Amino acid sequence: MNRHVWHSARLCPTGDSTYTINNAALAIEADSIVWLGNTAELPEPFARWPSTDLQERWITPGLIDCHTHLIYGGQRANEFARRLAGVSYETIAREGGGILATMRSTREADEDTLFMQAAERLSTLLMEGVTAIEIKSGYGLDLVNERKMLTVARRLAAVYPISVYTTFLGAHALPPEFANRSDDYITYLLNDVLPPLADEGLIDAVDVFREKIAFTPAQCERIFEAATKRHLPVKAHAEQLSHLGGAALVARYGGLSADHLEWLTDADCKSMANAGTVAVLLPTAFYFVRESKLPPIERLRQYGVPMAVATDSNPGTAPSSSLLLAMNQACTLFQLTVDEALAGVTRHAARALGAEDKHGILAVGRQADFAVWSIDSLAELAYWMGHRLCERVIRRGEEIYRRMTLPYEKK
Ligand SMILES: [Zn+2]
Repeated sequence: MNRHVWHSARLCPTGDSTYTINNAALAIEADSIVWLGNTAELPEPFARWPSTDLQERWITPGLIDCHTHLIYGGQRANEFARRLAGVSYETIAREGGGILATMRSTREADEDTLFMQAAERLSTLLMEGVTAIEIKSGYGLDLVNERKMLTVARRLAAVYPISVYTTFLGAHALPPEFANRSDDYITYLLNDVLPPLADEGLIDAVDVFREKIAFTPAQCERIFEAATKRHLPVKAHAEQLSHLGGAALVARYGGLSADHLEWLTDADCKSMANAGTVAVLLPTAFYFVRESKLPPIERLRQYGVPMAVATDSNPGTAPSSSLLLAMNQACTLFQLTVDEALAGVTRHAARALGAEDKHGILAVGRQADFAVWSIDSLAELAYWMGHRLCERVIRRGEEIYRRMTLPYEKK
């Protein structure tokens, strides 16, 4: 059986920098933490187990990316370049660009191609200390292709040492075969797509895209009704481009999270707080599309709504594979504190996945998922941009990643 002690570290067990342990040790047996505390107090028999001296490096819980569209065909760098050269978004959309371009390339790609492309992005996140991730469907927009995306997500979880939570986002955009028939599309999703995919065990949660350019409240509610009947938790892309009541709707259904939230109102904050719905902030998308309307962070604080931070990794508005960058952007653009950003990628992100019993904090009896960082203070996690800060990743007690040292680097 795997038994190991990681000692002489600085430990931040709950993603809260006001509660840390200096000269800390973590004893691991099989996939769980069996002891944690001060190295000097390490009891028998742990003191005799194989051990690693971490020389005062920091340990945090494994990071959690709770909102991604990691699986898609192709990419849209060309569109990005054309927009920078002055071509309007409308022109690009008229020529078949945007989300429907990704839908086409996703439909065209076979399962192996989607797997390999997503695996590269997943590995990049993993090497940054991410041990759990949410992955949405929503570029297939029909039964065959939504199934293909969700199957790839399950395959990634089987091959890579990372926990994957799948979200069905059939209500992401209207596919061309249903042009001007959005009610019919929702009926199709509810009759022909959601039931088989749920029965096949491919769906952990259900998401909707509640925007003017997407689906109406009544349509989102039909989806939520169907999900609730199947005991699937719900969430929504809400209040990103205007205020349309998506967050209040999620709260009414006791949903896991409402995500984006630039146009959230006081009343929404209150409903979310009462329902225990997490506010998932996506500052990389805010940055990439150069939004100016800030989410109401102070109000979220006042009402005590837990805030999570995620990459939103997707080819249109957040072509990112860095959760540390999202932390930095949450701090610089939204003025989160370092503590809020850290909670946002650990315990609050776990809650946004409905998995707070499995991820997000380190304690005796919990799964041993953690990252070891070559930093002097926790603030560095949100401070550096593009640095390789993560030295080791341990998941379920096993070291699954160790940073390579170049021959001419100091050890
Ligand atoms: Zn999204």
